[in-house]
Amino acid sequence: MAGALPLNFLVQADWVLPVTRPPIVDGALLIANGRIVAVGLAKDLLSSHSGSVPQIHFPRSVVTPGLVNPHTHLDNSLLPYRLKGYRGFEEWITLMADAVRRQTDQERAQAVLKGIQSLLKAGVTCVGDISRDGTSFDILTRYRFKGVVFRELICLTKEQMTNRLKDLEHWCQGQRTLVRGLAPHSPYTVIPEALRQASLLSRSRRLPLSFHLAESPMERRFLKGSSQGLTGLQTLLKSLPSPTSPVDYADRFGLLTPQTLLIHCVQLTESDIRLLAQRRSWVVHCPRSNQNLQVGMMPLSHFRTAGGRFCLATDGLASVPSLDPKDEVAFAVALSRNRPSQYPALAPHQWLSLITLKAAQALGWGNRVGSLEPGKDADLAVFTSSVAIADPYELLFSSCPATAVFVDGQPIYLSEDGQERVKSSLNHLFSPHRRPTEQIFGNEREEIFLSPTTG
Ligand SMILES: [Zn+2]
Repeated sequence: MAGALPLNFLVQADWVLPVTRPPIVDGALLIANGRIVAVGLAKDLLSSHSGSVPQIHFPRSVVTPGLVNPHTHLDNSLLPYRLKGYRGFEEWITLMADAVRRQTDQERAQAVLKGIQSLLKAGVTCVGDISRDGTSFDILTRYRFKGVVFRELICLTKEQMTNRLKDLEHWCQGQRTLVRGLAPHSPYTVIPEALRQASLLSRSRRLPLSFHLAESPMERRFLKGSSQGLTGLQTLLKSLPSPTSPVDYADRFGLLTPQTLLIHCVQLTESDIRLLAQRRSWVVHCPRSNQNLQVGMMPLSHFRTAGGRFCLATDGLASVPSLDPKDEVAFAVALSRNRPSQYPALAPHQWLSLITLKAAQALGWGNRVGSLEPGKDADLAVFTSSVAIADPYELLFSSCPATAVFVDGQPIYLSEDGQERVKSSLNHLFSPHRRPTEQIFGNEREEIFLSPTTG
């Protein structure tokens, strides 16, 4: 098990980005008992606390809140995202279903671990993960992640329904650091009756719910009564009510609530946009996945102007090359340059809030994480440059890996540079005959990734 840092310490860096207020040059944070106590200029915090608490200094670095990725499929982290030559969404989803069916329990656990390593390297500490059987819940808990694990429901026939819903209900009992949620997969993979039951379960247990909605033209055609491009969904198709749009369909089941995360929402009409804004549901926008699966482009400018709530996520590694939310921002910034009439040009701090505070709010974690403010959990990510930093956002949105990641004031991930930094900053705390590395991390440290907790 990883050793612990002192309970109280100070983190200092060239830039601190609190998200809820402007960037602080030569900033610092005071951490006590896993919480943020103060955020401000390093000279102010050092003058009031110098000598009383240990300090960790990260030169040429930017400190942000631990990043939030509200839509991942960690189960899929070992499936190659190119899935060998698929053409369009229909082929991709058929290949996916087949690959997922053949996955063993052990492969699924390995995939989750690989995904977690990618998330930590990217500086992510809070996720909204869709899990086929709940495997990621225990592993994410061991690595001290925060967020929601949404247990997926796929139910194509009435015969499958009773057992699958019972399974889901049983799994949702009990909570730890992570919250449990429900993920009825989509309008075309869950029969209406099971969708109704999942919606009721979510309301009665106050469980967050995630739903892939209005992702592809195929889904829109399906709800109009066509199974073109889909196989094995005839039974489901027959059980559908009268033809409708994806957003109206979700609304009939009471799924458009402020606690629901609607994933994608690419295929939206004017009236869909108005309804989503009115219902205050969160739309989780995954532009790279949408482009790779050739499903179109979300009308983000329109949606934003109408007052819709949204954040950014990567989706799983079967449809994108990385789980780094900063890569999603870089892609979105490029879109806003290339398609200015459809896509908004936001300020850098607004992009950052889409992968921190807004994503945390969408997951129901906004009062604990997502910004650097006194009283919030000391969940931080540190990013380091090889040269002096003129613009912290330029460094952030350049696929820069994390140097250090802290959760509740404890290091969860340290790159080699991060280990050196923490060791040298805290060296004076340790007696000369013992190596500080062992004291901080224990002998079993895995060089870069710290061991998970055993709890
Ligand atoms: Zn998804």
